[in-house]
Amino acid sequence: MKMLIDGEWTDAASGETYEVRNPASGKLLDTAPLGGAEDVKRAVDAAREAQKKWSAMPARDRGRIFFKAAQRIRDRQADLATMLTMEQGKPFKEARDEIQGFANILEYYAGISAALEDGLIPLAQGKRGAVLRRPIGVCGAIIPWNVPGIIMGWKVGPALITGNTLVLKPATTTPLTNLSLAYAMGEAGLPKGVLNVVTGPGKSVGDEIVRNPGVRKISFTGSIETGKRVLQAVSASMKRVTLELGGSDPMIVCDDFDINKAVAGAVHGRFYNCGQTCTAAKRLFVFEAIADEFIGQLKSRVERLNVGNGMDEGVEMGPLNNRAQWEQIKGLVEEVRTKDEGRVIVGGRVQDGEQYRNGFFYMPTLVTNVAPDSRLLREEVFGPVLPIVVVKGLDEAIERANDTKYGLGSSIWTNDMEKAKAACERLESGITWINQHVKLPPEMPFGGVKESGIGRENGLETIDAYYELKSIML
Ligand code: NAD
Ligand code: MN
Repeated sequence: MKMLIDGEWTDAASGETYEVRNPASGKLLDTAPLGGAEDVKRAVDAAREAQKKWSAMPARDRGRIFFKAAQRIRDRQADLATMLTMEQGKPFKEARDEIQGFANILEYYAGISAALEDGLIPLAQGKRGAVLRRPIGVCGAIIPWNVPGIIMGWKVGPALITGNTLVLKPATTTPLTNLSLAYAMGEAGLPKGVLNVVTGPGKSVGDEIVRNPGVRKISFTGSIETGKRVLQAVSASMKRVTLELGGSDPMIVCDDFDINKAVAGAVHGRFYNCGQTCTAAKRLFVFEAIADEFIGQLKSRVERLNVGNGMDEGVEMGPLNNRAQWEQIKGLVEEVRTKDEGRVIVGGRVQDGEQYRNGFFYMPTLVTNVAPDSRLLREEVFGPVLPIVVVKGLDEAIERANDTKYGLGSSIWTNDMEKAKAACERLESGITWINQHVKLPPEMPFGGVKESGIGRENGLETIDAYYELKSIML
């Protein structure tokens, strides 16, 4: 495919391309332009020009384009989901949900577009004040490969509905879905230059987006490590910044809860998207009274998980998305073994079998008796490996859950209102689920505390992050 700058499908200025391969088979899917700083500069110029007309349009008219785009995307969801599965690896059903999720996000922002208005504020002595909400200008969006469709929606929806224009950089391994979604928005009438998609590496394309003085806001989703680099770089031009970073979500299973349901929740929470979800359940704390039974049932369910090519019927878990991620997961589990930091009770190695030979497959893995300072508990485990910790009760669970630099999501599994309430109040995270995990609907503000990020996406809360507010005294 080509990339999208100023409404044109173009090659990189360098003329170079790179390969996009299927992580389940190693097969070549397509190539994408190997963009660089020159391409970003062109995209920023186009976005700045387009922003004049786009911001002058009533928000409701921008919303109409979103509605049309959402419909086109729904009409084509099978093709788009196939592309997503082939470049990302996730099971087709998860990919289809993700494409529908992108359409849901556009419809959410289209729906509120007519309500984006300023009003007068009554002040002392019969005076009035007004708050003008004006778009920031050209925004830059940098996104990861794990949920490229949804995360693109989280950026495109609020940035464009408020009258900003965008230069978006996909992750290098998943450019095709992002380009195809942008294509559908163009077909729905999005004016040229409003959404530009520049493909290529973080070190060149990403870095130029972050440093280019014409870009006035950065919305970044990715790892804490890269997020910190972005935060330093934006300070040079004082850009606005939203950072959605990594997590190591705790899942707390209390002894009053139905073990069957908790097992299903843990399987979905951890192994959905092959464990590569920012808000996956990455550390499991289970009360000692039910620990043996819970672990036994979870083990037998995980042993039966159907792992394979995401396009095959009945597959529950695909491969990891890329070689670096695969090597990282292999290394983590090897380290647990060599340092004797835990007991691997299921999995713990690459999948064997002919059908797995050319993909980045890893067995779904459970580890018990984990040493408190093992990297499994200290760092974000971005793959299908679940460390399980047995705790005496709620106080110990919450204390251990909070003993981390991360603070993205958390969940508590109980029917006891008091326990649920305590967890909601005391767990340090941007979201706490009760008897569920992972889901992030566009209506709910979402983001991290501690090192998991700055700012919120989704909900009405994200709207003001794409405006400059100006107070006027009449
Ligand atoms: P990453 O940080 O490696 O890369 C993210 C993006 O940044 C990619 O597009 C990459 O090319 C780009 N990039 C790399 N170096 C850059 C630089 N110097 N300047 C600018 N851009 C640069 O993250 P990843 O491995 O793609 O994704 C996994 C991470 O994302 C995990 O930590 C996960 O938890 C996190 N994540 C967070 C959320 C959230 O909403 N909080 C959602 C999904 C994923
Ligand atoms: Mn990475």
